[in-house]
Amino acid sequence: MSKFSFAPALQPQISIAGSNQLFPVRRVYCIGRNYAEHAVEMGHDPKTSLPFFFQKNPNNVNETGNFIYPSHSNDVHHEIEMIVALCSGGTNIDVSQADTHIFGYSIGLDMTRRDLQAEMKRLGRPWEVSKAVEGSAPTSQLHLREETGFITSGIIKLLVNGEIKQESNLNKMIWSVSEQISILSEYYELAAGDIIMTGTPAGVGPVKKGDVMLGSIEGLGDLTVTVD
Ligand code: MN
Repeated sequence: MSKFSFAPALQPQISIAGSNQLFPVRRVYCIGRNYAEHAVEMGHDPKTSLPFFFQKNPNNVNETGNFIYPSHSNDVHHEIEMIVALCSGGTNIDVSQADTHIFGYSIGLDMTRRDLQAEMKRLGRPWEVSKAVEGSAPTSQLHLREETGFITSGIIKLLVNGEIKQESNLNKMIWSVSEQISILSEYYELAAGDIIMTGTPAGVGPVKKGDVMLGSIEGLGDLTVTVD
């Protein structure tokens, strides 16, 4: 007989391209304002001394190809981001060793209730209701790092209904993937199963029901998500 009083929730997971195995998601870290032009479009100075992070819920990870427009918002935004998935972790990881913890990469979307985020910022309250939204981390399959190599550049792009909304290069991140892993590990104990959403370039904007988002990252294929 199970020691649990009811069936435990399903383990959040991401499929792996070319494999029957699944990546079990432990935590979802996200970096804010990691491309200078996006920081500026959000009204901020990109030259900060340290990055900042927030988290989504592991079960916000969503590989269904659909995103259900959430309640309590009339201004839900797309943010195309590269997701980095970790196969190991630790604390105080040296930046020179950080890339050795990378399992693979996927194309992700950090779907955001922008109106609620602005309200929470104004009130000095936490961002959870704007970021940890149900299904708010659509992702493609993971591509193994041993196949892609260590990714430091490449075009990242998002089209909505065929129109280009976001386009930049991964090499324009303010804080590199290695720096993000290293700095996060000063605050948290990173572990296998953690994923990092590495920030979005400029061009974020609203979606509405029926919109089709097509994200792509050089070397990682593409991701199609319909807003329901
Ligand atoms: Mn984001």
